[in-house]
Amino acid sequence: MNPWGKISSLSKQETIDLQNQKLHQFINSYLYPFSPHYKRVFDENKINPKHIRTTHDLKHIPFTSKLDFVDTEQSKERFKDFVLQPTKEKIKQYWPVSRQVPLAVTSVFKGSEYVLDQLNKEFRPVFMTFTTGTTSRPIPFLYSTYDIQNLHTSGARMLNLFDIKITEQIVNTFPYAPHLAFWQVVYGGIASCALILSTGGGKVMGTEGNIAAIMKMRPSVILGVPSFVYHTLRVAKEKGYKMEFIKKVVLGASKVSIPFKLKVAEILEGLGATGVSIFGTYGFTESRCAWAECPTALDVSSGYHLYSDKEIFEVVDPKTGEAKKEGEDGELVYTSIDSRASVVIRYRTGDFVKGGITYEPCPHCKRRTPRISSDITRLSDVKDLQLSKIKGSLVNLNNFSACMSEVAAVDEWQVELRKKDNDPFEIDELIVCAALKPNADKKKAEEEIKEKMLQATEVAPNSIQFVSMDEIVKRLEIETANKEKRIVDNRPKV
Ligand SMILES: [Zn+2]
Repeated sequence: MNPWGKISSLSKQETIDLQNQKLHQFINSYLYPFSPHYKRVFDENKINPKHIRTTHDLKHIPFTSKLDFVDTEQSKERFKDFVLQPTKEKIKQYWPVSRQVPLAVTSVFKGSEYVLDQLNKEFRPVFMTFTTGTTSRPIPFLYSTYDIQNLHTSGARMLNLFDIKITEQIVNTFPYAPHLAFWQVVYGGIASCALILSTGGGKVMGTEGNIAAIMKMRPSVILGVPSFVYHTLRVAKEKGYKMEFIKKVVLGASKVSIPFKLKVAEILEGLGATGVSIFGTYGFTESRCAWAECPTALDVSSGYHLYSDKEIFEVVDPKTGEAKKEGEDGELVYTSIDSRASVVIRYRTGDFVKGGITYEPCPHCKRRTPRISSDITRLSDVKDLQLSKIKGSLVNLNNFSACMSEVAAVDEWQVELRKKDNDPFEIDELIVCAALKPNADKKKAEEEIKEKMLQATEVAPNSIQFVSMDEIVKRLEIETANKEKRIVDNRPKV
């Protein structure tokens, strides 16, 4: 049975009914009985889990935030409180008779060891990934075999959304690391019966190694982090390779803007690949799955298609926490309704979505599953760099990416924040370092960067330095780091 076909064709009311039913069941049979953290939250706030019947009731439950995972003096391993921990007694107490009878019957016919094995597969953590914050310690998120199955499911759904056929071959260049993106792709490939080569990215095989793998395998699909895919394709083009076999490019772990997609398409054209679909994806460690766009023209986005049988998204006002209506901007809040091991509900992602959530059928693929707009700003990234004022202005650092992508002459770039003379009490300095395309006009590029940056961030750069491509690749650590060093804050901390 392929529930995705069914799930993605439900009407809005059917979707809401399904989510209400799954939410109520999940909270009463799994979350409240087995999660030490949420049991405490419900009890302290006098919330009766039986009263959580619809998605509207979610507002009675306090938000969960990144701060809830940070260790305190009293509690050294708070992430463990989010892991479902069933016991025989709790199962007897909280599971409905309809679930207990089959367990008892199975135990009689197949033995109690078999039942224990099944429960272990459902609940016992066997795998983990970590968050990648820059300010706090990485936090582990655990998966049971049940969750790994869900990772297969979301991966297969993504490949289905990209319209990747089992006859297609895939090269996965996501960095080999305990991070969601790499494993989401590996399991998605396995679940879809597609042949997939995971190179481990630049750190494992270098740019040359990745190009060699691509040339050997001649895949129709390339996946990876936007900066590394861009870099690899650009180097391949420079070296005169032809990659006319590429038909789809899937990017993840970072925001993908339309100007960026157009830039990738331009390089692909230089490699002989035309009419390529370029997809963005969205996911975070805490969701333990990712969501995808469907095929569209390069200058529009379908938004990310959600899995209504697996999660509920709310969009809330980031200041007041109040729910926003369909289509309104706000912060994304995530609630899992079908997971085990590490579970979060009402999780504030710190991601701000412009255009919110819609239940209208997708105009591109006609699927009826809800979608979130792909115009997402990671507020958390900004917070990691403390959104500290640059030259007295509060700057959204994500805006640098948007404006630099718009400057056609720029191939790669980095922004560095310094203090004048490295004196912590001195004024801020903003230095743009860029590698230009061959034959680009330096003077014109400089003016354009200044103008776009001032428009987007209200801050003008102190200086713009043009360096060679090799130099910028080294500075960005594209080949060696898991995430490129796009914005470097070198201001000394007082
Ligand atoms: Zn669609």
